[in-house]
Amino acid sequence: MKPEEIFLYKKNTQLSDFVVWMGFPAIYSFSMSSLGYLWMCKNIDETCEVALERICSDTEKTHYDIKDVKMFGFSFSFDLDFLTIFSMLDKYKIPLRADEREGFPLIFAGGPVVSANPEPYKKFFDFFIIGDGEDTNIKAVNICKKNRELHKNEILRLLSEVEGIYVPSVSGKIVKKVSEKLDECIYTPILSENSFFKNTFIIEMARGCSNCCGFCLASYLNLPLRCVPYEKLIETIDLGLKYTDRIALLGAQISAHPHFHDVCDYIYSKIKSGKNIEISVSSLRVDAINPDVVKTLVAGGQKNSTLAIEAGSERLRKVINKHLSEEQIFNAVKIARENGLKGLKFYGMIGLPTETTEDLEEMLRLAKRIKSENKGFDISFGFSSFVPKPHTPFQWFGRENTASLEEKSNFLQKELHKIGISSRISSVKWDYWQAVLSRGDENLCDFVEETYRAGGKLGAFKSSAKKLNINTDYYALENYDFDKELPWDFIEIPPGKEFLIKENKRLINK
Ligand code: SF4
Repeated sequence: MKPEEIFLYKKNTQLSDFVVWMGFPAIYSFSMSSLGYLWMCKNIDETCEVALERICSDTEKTHYDIKDVKMFGFSFSFDLDFLTIFSMLDKYKIPLRADEREGFPLIFAGGPVVSANPEPYKKFFDFFIIGDGEDTNIKAVNICKKNRELHKNEILRLLSEVEGIYVPSVSGKIVKKVSEKLDECIYTPILSENSFFKNTFIIEMARGCSNCCGFCLASYLNLPLRCVPYEKLIETIDLGLKYTDRIALLGAQISAHPHFHDVCDYIYSKIKSGKNIEISVSSLRVDAINPDVVKTLVAGGQKNSTLAIEAGSERLRKVINKHLSEEQIFNAVKIARENGLKGLKFYGMIGLPTETTEDLEEMLRLAKRIKSENKGFDISFGFSSFVPKPHTPFQWFGRENTASLEEKSNFLQKELHKIGISSRISSVKWDYWQAVLSRGDENLCDFVEETYRAGGKLGAFKSSAKKLNINTDYYALENYDFDKELPWDFIEIPPGKEFLIKENKRLINK
């Protein structure tokens, strides 16, 4: 039986024999905390008059039989999601390859991974949604429903004419990414006790980030920065508070919202007037931390927060376009501590282009000073390693090799431990495979399938590459020339390649 769900919108109750499955490549509790996925389901359910069913990796019993399903869409947010998506297709006995699927539902995917570069997965999906999916998903479902009597190839041809839809079998097309205006506020449309963030009402305050760090796909894929109008945010907060006292504010850089402080003031005044509110926010921008913001977070039960500093030295922060002085960082920590937060987690990256040992030593010096000036305050660090992402100014840079990154990662962890700071570093080996996929082309289709069939563990990636004789270092480690044609060039995302080249040169010469 499905765990209890509270719908904050009017569910479609009309009977329909056009069944759409929306798939989430993880377990149910994670799907219920994915705002993008839930909102997309709500939009289709409210608008398209179809029979919609949500399917997760741990779904045991489905309401509709697979033979009645006409479309099966997937949210594809992380490079390794393909493993779970393939296992979900296998579970319902759907062939993985699109050209082997006659008489099966249309399989499609949307999300940041495939919006940036769908090529390594192009043989498995009938079509992809490129960019924001709010409207495009609805258009796609309506086209498929209206033309259900046509042959699959005809339906795909119609879909290929829609802006923001990429149909691999209809070739020679530039695909434009779709960007929604965001003049409505997006929030958790279905609350559940069994969500990973139990009964939490998530509100998207802003989409994108105008800071444009040289490596950041979240920023470049979502330009321009769009902020939900203040009045809409307040309306939505009030709506959420009718159902729950847990509010989460979401956005790549919510503190860049021009009314972030006003929203915090509004929540703070509610708490002060006796309303019980638990509030959480995604990571904060160092220059947005002020006493009022911290007081609101603390009053709303938040004990710790995350500050992304990305690099240890001011020089390297300039190279990546993160203009943040050391004094700003110290000041932010002081404000956080003095206004009641118990600790801060700093997030950084290793292996950024031009990084040297001096940059890592600067990181340690910074950590040491933060620790010694803030006794009793909980300081920790999290690191990942640089993964070149399509459509960013750093897309032409290869990664450092795995052995050298592991050496750096061990060095940092050891030295931080010596000064009593705990740290977590993402697996350098997994980051390597992410880089392979992220800059992959259609030649990787056999590789991803083989990797899945071989079990999808680290060893499977390695053995599949060997078996198929694929030089994966070419995708992950090589620097590319600016005039090289890139597999994802056909996806048109402003500001475009010329700008990215100029930005790459500007940053690297800092
Ligand atoms: S500040 Fe954060 S979200 Fe914004 S561009 Fe930089 S890394 Fe991306």
